[in-house]
Amino acid sequence: MTKRIWCDLDGVLCDLTGGLAKQIGFNPSDVKNWDCSPAVENQDKMFGLFRAPGFWPLLCKPYEGMVDFIVPLANACDDNLVILSNISSPQEAAGKVEWVGKYLRGCESRLCLSLDKTRIFRPGDVVIDDSPAVLNYARKVGAVPICISRPWNQPTSKPAWDGPRFDYRSAPGAVEAALEGRYQGDC
Ligand SMILES: [Mg+2]
Repeated sequence: MTKRIWCDLDGVLCDLTGGLAKQIGFNPSDVKNWDCSPAVENQDKMFGLFRAPGFWPLLCKPYEGMVDFIVPLANACDDNLVILSNISSPQEAAGKVEWVGKYLRGCESRLCLSLDKTRIFRPGDVVIDDSPAVLNYARKVGAVPICISRPWNQPTSKPAWDGPRFDYRSAPGAVEAALEGRYQGDC
C-alpha cells in the first residue's frame, strides 16, 4: 500500500513562533519548551492573533528551505502527501488557507484542517512534525515520525523528543528512507 505522508504546517513549514513573537514581544530563540513560550502563557492574546485578519499570511513567514523541501516532495508523491494542521476557529482556518495559497502555490488542495490531527495517523504513515507530543504519538501508533528540528523539540525540552531531528537539507533523505522502509530512526 502506498504510504501516506502528513506534513505539519505550524512550526514545520510556517514560522508561527516568529509571527507571535513580533506581535506579543518576545525573542523566538528563548522558546525552548513546547508549552512554556510567552505566547502560550498569554493564551487569550495568542488565540486572538490566530483569528486576526492577515496574521497568518502577513506575519508568519515560511521557514528557511521548507518551501523548497515540501513542494517538490508533494509533486513527487501525487495525492499521498497532505499538509495537516489543527485549527481552533473558522478564522484560523481561513488564515491557513490563505497562507498555503500565498507560499505553497499548487498545494492548496493538499491542506487538511482538523480539530485533532493525531486521530488521522495510522501504522505505516509518515508524520513530519515539530511537536514532541505529536511525534511521540505517531511513534506509538506505528507511524514513522520525522522530526523537523526546532528549539522546542530537543532532548532537554519539555515534553522531550528523543529521536533524530532533521533540517530542510536532511529531511528529504529521511522521508525517502521512510517511504522505502529503510528509515533507521527509533520508531
Ligand atoms: Mg507544529
